Formats: sequence, structure tokens, C-alpha cells
Amino acid sequence: MRALVLGLAITNDAVVRQVQARGGKVTVLDDAPSDASRERALGLGLELHRTDEVDVATMLAAVDVVLPTPGMRISHPVLVSAAAAGVPVWSEFELAAEWDARPIVAVTGTNGKTTVTTLITSMLAASGRVVVDAGNNDLPLVDALDRRDVELFVVEASSFRLQFTERFRPVVGVWLNLSPDHLDWHPTMDHYAEAKFRIWANQRADDVAIANAEDDEVMQWAAKAPGRVVTYGLSVGDYRLSEGALKTPGGAVIVQVDDLAQQLPHELSNFLAAGAASLEAGASMDAVRSVLVDFRGLPHRVELVVDAGGVRWYDDSKATTPASVLAAVSGFDSAVLIAGGRNKGLDLGVLRPLSSRLRAVVAIGESGPMVASVFEGACPVVSAASMDEAVARAASLAQPGDAVVLSPGCASYDWYSNYNERGDDFVRAVRDLVGATDR
Ligand code: ADP
Repeated sequence: MRALVLGLAITNDAVVRQVQARGGKVTVLDDAPSDASRERALGLGLELHRTDEVDVATMLAAVDVVLPTPGMRISHPVLVSAAAAGVPVWSEFELAAEWDARPIVAVTGTNGKTTVTTLITSMLAASGRVVVDAGNNDLPLVDALDRRDVELFVVEASSFRLQFTERFRPVVGVWLNLSPDHLDWHPTMDHYAEAKFRIWANQRADDVAIANAEDDEVMQWAAKAPGRVVTYGLSVGDYRLSEGALKTPGGAVIVQVDDLAQQLPHELSNFLAAGAASLEAGASMDAVRSVLVDFRGLPHRVELVVDAGGVRWYDDSKATTPASVLAAVSGFDSAVLIAGGRNKGLDLGVLRPLSSRLRAVVAIGESGPMVASVFEGACPVVSAASMDEAVARAASLAQPGDAVVLSPGCASYDWYSNYNERGDDFVRAVRDLVGATDR
């Protein structure tokens, strides 16, 4: 394989090593090489070329495939030229399909991928299967292939990785939901949805396509899925919530909702998705049940920080889209919402109907004025210029019985380097304040 690699961060570092290990020849292009990427290239015995210093057409003519770093814009000139020249563009998922025949369970959707992927991995592991969670995390799928003991891979499938596949074929593919996101990357919503459909596109008749029965868009795409469609949902679906329990299509109880630490509607929906995928992939009912009963949620996803004076504080810093804010706040009868940050070009206006549940809104960050205008006239809105100020303002607005939720609906890059840092700072500010008022 002669590969033209575009960008050299964690995933492509792995990709290059794996192509080289299979006797392939690699050329690396980078638009603006950093010291880190130069060092990486050196470590791999490669020369790093600056994109604007080479003749891209000549380079494309000398390779079999183009391997872009995840997140590279689809409008990037080299990708456009590759398409025009008929050179295939592959993500690491397609390389995995080329190199390895072991089964894959994949999860896509706008929100909930990490949560559901984590649950499925635990459920299958608890069933005695040797599994590994790879893809959109610290372990690239191409590196996970080195683990010969692994029987089955569970992968979080971002639309970017799905986009550049031709044969990638999960035996079980879960599509959780679809709402606007990454529109800075995808030219249209249809383009985004088509990328997600790649999770099902290559399935065979006996593969399983797990679809959220309560998401109309997902169900429209499910009608085109070549595999066996299995649905789930809180009110409709094969796997469903009924009489206070999560149940299988046959009506068997997977788990009673009262036995779960997390019970918000979107959390139950994720549990149904994970349970369905795991059971369809051969997990045992006992394993699925015990994983769900033990699950306390992942950090920064509607995570309870503290219950102080009847006010419960939640860190939902991972909510970087309006859809995830809708999911979080819809779970509370009365809440103070802290929202704002760097808007990813999404319509925050969809949040306005939440105002009937909102005691008040604290608008923060770059998009603070936009957040404020969304709720103006619908519920009280104040602005805050720092996380400490936001927490102090929320504390003075909240009444006993309320939840205070940091659910920004925006990226964190205006004030922080990532959502973890934002969530940690919120937790610190809450603890500082609550510690002070408790005494
Ligand atoms: P992803 O990996 O797709 O970003 P995560 O599991 O990390 O998903 O969750 C991201 C955000 O979306 C969190 O704020 C979480 O509370 C919210 N979320 C999780 N599941 C859902 C869902 N099914 N619908 C809407 N929002 C969700």
C-alpha cells in the first residue's frame, strides 16, 4: 500500500505505524507542521512535507490511498483533489476492514456514543467475551487490532471515521439519534446523516441494525438498512420501557428502573440501546443487568456534584450541542441552567421551550448574549463573566428542590482547553461556594 497521510496526530501516528508494519510506503503531508508532528514524523523515520510546498497532483498520482487525520475538513483541497483524481480516501475503520475479519459492534449518533460504547464493552466483558473499546478514544482501532486475544471490538463511530469507509461492516451497528452538529465540517445535515448511515450501509441480512424508534430521522434511514432492524425506545420499540422496567422484545425484564442510579429519559434510552446491542451480540442477561445496576454515569455527563440545602448541582459540561441540553434539562422539573460557551454554529433557539422548566438561566462565555436573547421574556436571565460568578449567581437564584445544571450547549474553547477542564472548574467553583455556605 502506498499511502498519502494527511496530518500526524494520535490516530495517524498509529495508522502510519500499522501501514509500515504491513510493508506499506507512507508519505506525510501537514498544512502547518507543529514541533510535535515533526517529532512524530522523525520517530517514524518519515519526512514531513508542508502541503503548500509540494505538488499535490504529483503526490496523488503516486499513491493508492489517502489517509486523513480525523476531523480534517471535507473541503480540504487535498481531499477535494483526491476525489477528483479518483484516489480512495479511507479512515482507520476502512483500514481495519481491509486488515482484520474479527467482528465489530459500532455505535454512532450525535449524543450518547461514549456512554453507550462504554456500557456495551462492560456488558460483553461481563459475559466473558474478550472485548476492547477502540476508535474515537485514546486507542485507535488499528492499534487495537494488534491484540490477538480480542474476539470482538466495540467502536465509537464518529461521522468522520464513518464517512471515509467503503467496506466497514459492523455485525451490530447502533444509531442513537441525529440532531444538528459538526455543521462546520459537514456541508449539510444530509451529508452528516449520510456519513452516519455508513454504519449500516454494508451490513448483511443477518447483521443487526439497532435504531432509536423515537428518532424520526434515524427511523427514516433504518428503512434503507440492509441488515435486520431492531428498534428501542421509551414508549415504542422492540426493546422498551414498560411497567417500570426495561424489557426485551419478548417481554423479559432486563432491569427494574428503580434499581438504577440514573433514570433520566435519555439515560434510560441509552441503557435500552446498550442492552439491545449487547444482547444481540450475545451478552448474557445477568451481565447486562449487573452492569446497568452498577453504572453511575461517566464524568461530565449530567453528573451529580453535590446536594446542598436541597439544591442538586449537576455537571453536564460534555453537552456541547443544544440537543444534549434539551435531553439534560427535560429530566428536571425545575432547574437553573448555566449555558453558553463557543457556539459550534448551531441554533440555540431550540432551547427556548425549556423555559417552562427553568427557574432562571445564567448565560456565560462568548455566546452568552445569544443565550440571553433566546430566553429573554421567557424566564429570568442573568449573565456571568466567569465560572465562579456563574455559580454564585445560580446559587442565589436556585430554590430548594431545584437542580442547577451546567449544560452549555456549546464548545468550551472560549474559556478552557476542553470540556473536562470546564467541568472540573465548575465542580471546583461549586465546592468552594457550597463549602462556604454550609458552614
Ligand atoms: P458522545 O460521545 O456522542 O459525545 P456522550 O456519551 O459523551 O456522547 O454524551 C455527550 C452529551 O450528550 C452529554 O452531555 C450527555 O449528557 C448527553 N447525552 C447522552 N446521551 C444522550 C442522548 N441519548 N440524547 C441526548 N443527549 C445525550
